[in-house]
Amino acid sequence: MKRWVYRFDEVDEAEQSVGGEWDAVRGLLGGKGANLGDMSRLGVPVPPGFTVTTEACNAYLEAGLQFPEGLDDQIAAALADVEERTGRRFGDQDRPLLLSCRSGAKFSMPGMMDTVLNIGLNEEVVTGLIAESGDEHFAYDSYRRLIQMFGSVVLGHKDELFEQVLAELRARRGVTSDTGLSTEDLSEAAMRFRRIATAFPDEPREQLRLAVEAVFRSWNGKRAVDYRNAAGIAHDLGTAVNIQAMVFGNLGEDSATGVAMSRDGATGEPRLEGDYLVNAQGEDVVAGIRATKDLGALRKEMPAVYDELAAIAAKLERHYGDMQDMEFTVEQGRFWLLQTRDSKRTAQAAVRIAVDMAQEGLISRDRAVRRVTPEQVDFFLHPQLSSDARQASLVEGRLLGRGLNVSPGAAVGVVAFDPDLAQRWHAEGRRVLLARPETKPDDVHGMIASEGILTSRGGRTSHAALVARQFGKPAVVGMAELTIEPSDHVMHVDGKTISEGEWISIDGNTGEVFLGQLETYVPDLADRWLVTLLEWADELRRLDVRANADYPADARRAREYGAHGIGLCRTEHMFFEADRLPIVQRMIMATSPAERAEALAELLPMQRDDFRGLFEAMDGLPVVIRLMDPPLHEFLPGWEQLVSEVADRKIRLRIATSLEDLDTTLAELEHSEHLKVAVERLRETNPMLGLRGVRLSIVMPELTRMQMRAIAEAACDAAAAGVVVKPEVMIPLSIDRGELEWVAAILREEAAAVFDERGITIPFMIGTMIETPRAALTAGALATVAEFFSFGTNDLTQTTFAISRDDAEASFLMNYVSLGILGENPFATLDDAGVGTLIRSAVAAGRATRPEIEVGICGEHGGDPKSIALCHGYGLDYVSCSPLRVPVARLAAAHAAMADVS
Ligand code: PEP
Ligand code: MG
Repeated sequence: MKRWVYRFDEVDEAEQSVGGEWDAVRGLLGGKGANLGDMSRLGVPVPPGFTVTTEACNAYLEAGLQFPEGLDDQIAAALADVEERTGRRFGDQDRPLLLSCRSGAKFSMPGMMDTVLNIGLNEEVVTGLIAESGDEHFAYDSYRRLIQMFGSVVLGHKDELFEQVLAELRARRGVTSDTGLSTEDLSEAAMRFRRIATAFPDEPREQLRLAVEAVFRSWNGKRAVDYRNAAGIAHDLGTAVNIQAMVFGNLGEDSATGVAMSRDGATGEPRLEGDYLVNAQGEDVVAGIRATKDLGALRKEMPAVYDELAAIAAKLERHYGDMQDMEFTVEQGRFWLLQTRDSKRTAQAAVRIAVDMAQEGLISRDRAVRRVTPEQVDFFLHPQLSSDARQASLVEGRLLGRGLNVSPGAAVGVVAFDPDLAQRWHAEGRRVLLARPETKPDDVHGMIASEGILTSRGGRTSHAALVARQFGKPAVVGMAELTIEPSDHVMHVDGKTISEGEWISIDGNTGEVFLGQLETYVPDLADRWLVTLLEWADELRRLDVRANADYPADARRAREYGAHGIGLCRTEHMFFEADRLPIVQRMIMATSPAERAEALAELLPMQRDDFRGLFEAMDGLPVVIRLMDPPLHEFLPGWEQLVSEVADRKIRLRIATSLEDLDTTLAELEHSEHLKVAVERLRETNPMLGLRGVRLSIVMPELTRMQMRAIAEAACDAAAAGVVVKPEVMIPLSIDRGELEWVAAILREEAAAVFDERGITIPFMIGTMIETPRAALTAGALATVAEFFSFGTNDLTQTTFAISRDDAEASFLMNYVSLGILGENPFATLDDAGVGTLIRSAVAAGRATRPEIEVGICGEHGGDPKSIALCHGYGLDYVSCSPLRVPVARLAAAHAAMADVS
């Protein structure tokens, strides 16, 4: 006889029948049935029950809704076992057994199929339940729930018919919730429900059989079919049915019900946490009608139960290798576990739990590293709402609502409904939060000026969400209950009106929005669990992680965060410092070699100090220093500004009242005109495609020499002080091997001169950025000169797509992403198909010419987890990212390496 039914404690037999594969057990018993079996096998006291297999379901459906032969008898036998284990009898008045009947497919399909609870009740059995529980209200409530569920699920009556009756009774009683109904009301409800569900069977076994059939049929219900189509689940799997004894936590003072987490979900501390209620039903705990007690009290009130719970929690953690979230019931002193699942937790708790569990031997280090997400590490890098402030705000009713948590971190500011206003307030030094129904490319300037972004419409890939993530701004979007009326300068939510300029706080981790200025804190990156986890990640990753750092302070910080060198120092950033800019301008505007040499001589010691600081901070690690890159006009005032300055000074000259005034105005005018001439000379229609990068080094060799001298002298000085220096001089924006040959000759000559003067030689490398398609396409030739490549994917993306990296995001690019034309913003996540193809071929060609060539990436993509995974695949040696992204990159690189292995 075919086996259609397995008791929960017969999971071993089920496993054998399918050849020992757990996946096949899940196929036979469904996910829920397999887990219940698994728990029974572990010796966890789950309420007894049995599973009717998916094969029985398929046989029933195939046979035109006929129970397969033997199923009735097998159910009867399994039921007798449940009766024996519980000491209760199905259909008896005396200690009645009630059953639940739930669907459970191989893959979870939440809420898609049917459940019937309290099976086994009728007029007589209800009286037995009253006698046992002493609680008439509970007994009638259970009864009316059975008829209601049975009526709608099994008999197909519309649920509204039942809800209408309840609404009438509530109105009559003057209460708003069903819990306010009296025993009489509930008994009346049961009676009236039976008039709707006229076919409701009194006979418990008939109830059970019909419920099982209904669950079988629900596999082909419209909801379930639609869900499977959407989720890509096969239609021929069938559902199992789990029939289980109902247990009650409300049968007196020795009964209780509660929820427990095996660790603290907020901090990750290894201690049981949860709430319970004595003499109550599960939903009382969740509904918050009665004040629940902390599990600490259970230890005193029911010590044996507490110990059992603690032991089971530990056992389940060991078995599943993860923190568990459990529901339990104590029925007349007997402990039952109703459910367990992997628990939700904060990012901080996730890190601590992963590390603790590995150290406790519950999971491997690999698994601990794999379990923490880059987003969870990112949590440590953003300000967060203080949990006390959050708690107090909840109590004070300052939670305005929740939206989608699309970009992490907390933001606090005065609310502005208009991007121009946000920008103005920001310029005045106020902290602003931009709230809009939705955002558009026109709003980007206001978004950048804001601490965070809130919208009432839109989803995870809305413009607001994409831009917020791009700029690292906390954001909550799609808060449907919020109505924003920018023209009236107000927003409404939940009956409250908030005016422009009022303080609000948003939590981009949870999606919560609060009224008021909540306190925030910056999490501790030195958190000892995070530090350990990242050390483990370091052991697993193949990619090195360097940092983009221009100043010694950034370099020191990057090193603290675990950077293994500097992948990019943008030397020009130091030229923008207030005390250097006038010298840089003099250097640019020089009309004679002597004048230029004088300005460069002034810059030399400054650059030398900068570089020495970097070498010291990175003692023993490589430091990539890039030669001057941007177009020179960026160091000069704008053309329009100079035109108006000149005009203004000419007027002042005419109205000058004293000789002294005349003199200063004349000098100023001359200066402005001088600058104007220089700007005119440097003006280009397409500066990004103009005189920049290596082209500058060629037209201004004196500048190149000065930078190389500064690097070499700094290296000699640092080395003399005992620092191990590893300079790598990087030539930007090259397009041809000829350029590299030309510049490398100057660099080597200047370096040799310095080493000669100092009497020591410091080995250094010369390499180039690959930032143009031509560089990538001729990488084999470039590698004859370049000892390393660094992919400048900001420019490489710009030049490959012919999309401006400066303007596109505020213009059309985000629309491309929301419309699905582009899957991702290519400036945030590497475009594997296009830019990636160039990188792959450049790496191959570079290595073919020079096998030991070092290859890395220093564009913004170097800090993006998805791009890091791609870089791992391209076989790069390192990624370089901003110091704050280093911890995220370390983890992402480990994940990439692990994915590669499996
Ligand atoms: C790049 O283009 O990717 C790069 C790192 O250089 P920059 O951003 O300075 O142009
Ligand atoms: Mg660049």
